[in-house]
Amino acid sequence: MWDAEREILQVVNTSATDDNIVLHGDVLPRDDRQSFYSNAAVRAIRRRLLGWYERARRDLPWRRTGDPYRIWVSEIMLQQTRVAAVVPYYERFLTRFPDVSSLAEAREEEVLTLWAGLGYYSRARNLQRAARQVRALGGFPETYEEIRELAGVGDYTAAAVASIAFGEARAAVDGNVLRVMSRLMGDGGDIGAGVTRARLGAAAGKLLDPENASEFNQAMMELGATVCLPREPLCGECPVSLYCRGLELGRQRELPVKLRRREKVEETQVLLVIRRGGCVLLGKRGESETRLAGFWELPEAGQLPQARRVGKLGTFRHTITFHHYSIEVEEGVLGRAPRGWRWVKEGGLGDIPLSTTARKALDLIRGAAKL
Ligand code: SF4
Repeated sequence: MWDAEREILQVVNTSATDDNIVLHGDVLPRDDRQSFYSNAAVRAIRRRLLGWYERARRDLPWRRTGDPYRIWVSEIMLQQTRVAAVVPYYERFLTRFPDVSSLAEAREEEVLTLWAGLGYYSRARNLQRAARQVRALGGFPETYEEIRELAGVGDYTAAAVASIAFGEARAAVDGNVLRVMSRLMGDGGDIGAGVTRARLGAAAGKLLDPENASEFNQAMMELGATVCLPREPLCGECPVSLYCRGLELGRQRELPVKLRRREKVEETQVLLVIRRGGCVLLGKRGESETRLAGFWELPEAGQLPQARRVGKLGTFRHTITFHHYSIEVEEGVLGRAPRGWRWVKEGGLGDIPLSTTARKALDLIRGAAKL
């Protein structure tokens, strides 16, 4: 079986024929040859991947439904966010907003409150905007092109929802899938470059099983999330290792190539917790702010120089993309709420959208001071 399948994986040194699907050009040095997967090899990769997915897939709440609304919510929540972090948010969100109408009709503050802590808050606002678009359409759009028109939906999300909910033959290509494809193809192009991403996206489209797009896309995502891991790919457990050019070259850990890495920026911030009569002083960010619009925050020390700083309460770290903050939390004293700040009842903090830093700071002192 092994030898027969090895034969299927053809590395052909002639030009492409109709019998072969060209998955990539000659990217890594390789004896001046082009590499092809024959149609038989493509079929074998699909079969192996789908068989593995059937056995190994994690039982996740959004995999137990065919409802496009629920699949869409999960895909939006999973953008830039780990599965383990998403699950409790997903369940709470769908308990409160079980369908498009309930989300479309909700107060934005309530949507943001349920999203608080998940980050990238424009996703929540767009989700609600899109729910209103769907309601106006009279039903959930069923094709990639139509889903792509919804607020906050890009190529990946439209392809994921169209394929998973409606079986449309579209490859859903996110960062995980690009990593898998770059290794599978042995593609040494800079993953930050549009041309590389387009090449790998096209290859993923050719590898996609058009008869089984939903399962195939989910299998690719699952492979990237659980086996073809960013730092240490588990090639020994990989269902398609026999076909992996990166592994064959021993370069699986080096791929994908990233030429431009953003430097980390380290910053320090001091947040003040100022309490009075069972309330805590908070400020609400304006609706036109680019970050965290509508969220409530603790004051930074520099914003209230008139506050007396009476002691340290603790420190935590917080990261936003390449910004790494060390946040010091101090207790402050102030007689009256200055303009733009409000005393908010501590018992009502769970009902408003709190910024992640405010929530972390208040959690920190809850433990110490039983707020
Ligand atoms: S063999 Fe290794 S590097 Fe290649 S796709 Fe599988 S896990 Fe990724």
